Amino acid sequence: MKVFIQTFGCQMNVNESLKVAALLKARGFESASTPEEADIVLVNTCSVREKPERKVFSFVGRYKSRGRVIGVMGCVAQQYGEAMLKREKAIDFVIGTQNLHKLPDVLDDVLKSGKRRVETGFVSPEDSLKIFEAPLDAPAVSAYVTIMQGCDRFCSYCIVPFVRGRERSRPSGEILREIGDLASRGIKEVVLLGQNVNRYGLNRENDLTFPRLLRKINKIEGITRIRFVTSHPASLDDETIHLFGELETVCEAIHLPFQSGSDRVLERMGRGYTRAMYLEKIEKLRKAAPEIALSADVMVGFPGETDEDFRDTLDLMETVRFDTLFSFRFTPRPMTRAAELSGQLPEEIKLERLQILQDLQAGITLEKNRAQAGKVKEVLVERPSKRPRGFMMGRTRDNRVVNFEATGDLVGREVKVRILEGYQNSLRGVMEENHVY
Ligand code: SF4
Repeated sequence: MKVFIQTFGCQMNVNESLKVAALLKARGFESASTPEEADIVLVNTCSVREKPERKVFSFVGRYKSRGRVIGVMGCVAQQYGEAMLKREKAIDFVIGTQNLHKLPDVLDDVLKSGKRRVETGFVSPEDSLKIFEAPLDAPAVSAYVTIMQGCDRFCSYCIVPFVRGRERSRPSGEILREIGDLASRGIKEVVLLGQNVNRYGLNRENDLTFPRLLRKINKIEGITRIRFVTSHPASLDDETIHLFGELETVCEAIHLPFQSGSDRVLERMGRGYTRAMYLEKIEKLRKAAPEIALSADVMVGFPGETDEDFRDTLDLMETVRFDTLFSFRFTPRPMTRAAELSGQLPEEIKLERLQILQDLQAGITLEKNRAQAGKVKEVLVERPSKRPRGFMMGRTRDNRVVNFEATGDLVGREVKVRILEGYQNSLRGVMEENHVY
């Protein structure tokens, strides 16, 4: 039988979908490239924001005909459980964030018995991380590796601790084995995933901390690039910051969400740092790696956010000048404290602020990309470009997408590219001769 997996949300979800696909393949299921050709459609969901949550039901609505088996997994599944079966008759099973390792059994059972099922109970930390043991199906150049799950911070707007559970880290031995295996299959780059990677290992006795884990991965033969996401400003320590300048494999790029430039708002968000503390981390990062690319998440329209608070956010953006920024408007999430806070703002104000902020950032990003012209960058080649033909696409160490003219099979190789032009979302360049390695 053929299975199609539709993934909404973050890289963590993308990685989980890959792991689920590997488990199902081992059980004899084939993968379908479209929902139309599938017998079974799985939807991996995200409830961090309201929009992806809404998308789930409209997606299920589209594919419920023709007797397909439909399963929902991930955060929305965890959040609503049984209620999803009641709301949408076409859904055959719901499986939460901690039970994904059981998916092949649940699916077998649904197919044999025809009965609908819900698996959303919280399980032991070890069982909840089992899904990540599934070997990936030969990714090409770069692979996600989940190192931890869940979060203990309980920021006032965030649903993650409720749907992903408390913080738990995978054993370092298992992570290192997985990365060694990926390296032996030609993977050059690993992207370590976790809700707050800087806290990796702190809840495990006698295991590595995050910076020590990075040092070990740095020694794995074949791995030339390490990235990680997400870092938390209150948990990012000096030891990790120094590794940006010290370890050859740690790429000069970090995603460090700041969420607001106003101390008053940061406090109501329960973020655990001030604007000054955030800026101090940025200064240290730039000292350790002067060319480091900075990206972040920011939220506008948090309850009680005044014009002045919003101006503080714009001011922080002007001060730091992020290379890229992911911006969102606040939407109240169930179970969170912020949903109940006074001072909820009208949508028009949120949208207006979001537009102002995005316009500002678009200008900064374009300016920074244009400033790359003339530089020679190391590019890890990922695939042929979609447009234009005859070009390859790769990424610089500071995580910029580069399209460059090339012939021959360079996928998985590192090449030097002279940047000719910078655009809003990418760079264009030309390969320096004799610089393939
Ligand atoms: S650090 Fe805050 S925003 Fe990030 S996952 Fe944890 S609770 Fe959510």
